[in-house]
Amino acid sequence: MSKRDYYEVLGLDKNASKEEIKKAYRKLSKKYHPDINKEADAADKFKEVKEAYEVLSDDQKRDQYDRFGHTDPNQGFGGFGGDGDFGGFGGFEDIFSTFFGGGSSRRRDPNAPRQGADLQYTMTLTFKEAVFGKETEIEIPREETCDTCHGSGAKPGTQPETCSHCHGSGQINTEQNTPFGKIVNRRVCHYCNGTGKMIKNKCKTCGGTGKVKKRRRINVKIPAGVDDGQQLRVSGQGEPGVNGGPAGDLYVVFHVREHEFFERDGDDIYCEIPITFAQAALGDEIEVPTLHGKVKLKVPAGTQTGTKFRLRGKGVPNVRGYGTGDQHIHVKVITPTKLTDKQKQLLREFSETEGSTPDEHNESFIDKMKKAFKGE
Ligand SMILES: [Zn+2]
Ligand SMILES: [Zn+2]
Repeated sequence: MSKRDYYEVLGLDKNASKEEIKKAYRKLSKKYHPDINKEADAADKFKEVKEAYEVLSDDQKRDQYDRFGHTDPNQGFGGFGGDGDFGGFGGFEDIFSTFFGGGSSRRRDPNAPRQGADLQYTMTLTFKEAVFGKETEIEIPREETCDTCHGSGAKPGTQPETCSHCHGSGQINTEQNTPFGKIVNRRVCHYCNGTGKMIKNKCKTCGGTGKVKKRRRINVKIPAGVDDGQQLRVSGQGEPGVNGGPAGDLYVVFHVREHEFFERDGDDIYCEIPITFAQAALGDEIEVPTLHGKVKLKVPAGTQTGTKFRLRGKGVPNVRGYGTGDQHIHVKVITPTKLTDKQKQLLREFSETEGSTPDEHNESFIDKMKKAFKGE
């Protein structure tokens, strides 16, 4: 069930430039587009390519991916787009128009709907909260559409006017004649900051920006098994869109605190359990703490320090729902430091009998040590 590496999906190496990523995506999305390719797995491949492109074409997401790999727990819950099939694109025409020029002028149109900015929120979780998940409310400051002017930025009863410098396009073109033809330089209109609008009577609530800062409470369900550095995407809870565009997304990034006894590696838990010399030599049944409660563990007679035991299914639930990890126990034989006279006497007697019957393990161990002393 493991996901393919995004670079591998696009047939690129880790140092691929933005241009190469775009090129590879263009080629592969055309190849696998379900409108063109009628092979059974074309739709899946198309989705895979699209997802890889969405991450690698976004500097922030690419950086996150390079550092943490496939970590977005959201990916386990219905795909990266979160909205099924080919979210974001209306169809074949739309996909390519954004690359082939048709869409680029539309994208620059200041009146076109634009998606709001994504927000990032760092949440610190205790070790156990990360293991078992929890539902919580977070408060995030974010910009919202101003209620007074409904986002226009103009005083109620007035309208923003079209910028007279750029005639509403938000851009100013300057032309330059060269022997090879005309070169057009496009710049953002600085009179209207690219909005294409001038507001004479500014809304008093928002000062003409059309947005106000508010604190908003959001309910977040943290899935069991999240790990340090992973993030959860809460769709549509970012900043509001512009000109009626969709809102951005909220990314909750998890920081997980360490536990003083348990150590975690992926879905597995590691810990060290001390046992006495007598328990190790004679064997015993001991109680071991796990995240899921106490568990009895049989330590066989003759257990050495460093012996590992595994408790299946006593680790961390997989964040994508693929089972539960194990707990690995490292046994540490504790040498007694405070002995009574009687115990000392017993150990001396024991020691005298021991010399004649070294067991196999110790024999080979002592052998190796002797060789090391000789410099072998
Ligand atoms: Zn306003
Ligand atoms: Zn302008």
